[in-house]
Amino acid sequence: MDTDKITEKQKLCVSCMKCCREVGIYTHPDMYVNTAEELIHFYEARGFSVERSGDMLVLSLRHSCPHLTAAGCDIYEKRPQVCKDYSGPADFGSSCLWANLPGEKKSNR
Ligand code: SF4
Ligand code: SF4
Repeated sequence: MDTDKITEKQKLCVSCMKCCREVGIYTHPDMYVNTAEELIHFYEARGFSVERSGDMLVLSLRHSCPHLTAAGCDIYEKRPQVCKDYSGPADFGSSCLWANLPGEKKSNR
């Protein structure tokens, strides 16, 4: 990454890197025979943090991407489209450092 041209959002991401260190998976209790409470207990006992988003459950697990370095993404210019499209505020709410930037879309969690 050319650090002379780094944007305000990129600066915040390099100081945070949460999106590249955590994997979030959305699932719905209707996919299981168990209740939502049983699923939350099951996943929390296995190291996930679990939040509700409406009827959905959001399972988060710490798992750093192999492309993450202390300076950020080592394939930044060629990172996958899903990384380019990813929304920190939508997935991490107020714990995303972008959340308080003017005009930033607020969390859906
Ligand atoms: S949570 Fe927000 S600030 Fe942190 S890496 Fe993701 S988009 Fe960037
Ligand atoms: S490829 Fe780069 S931007 Fe995408 S998750 Fe890995 S380190 Fe983050």
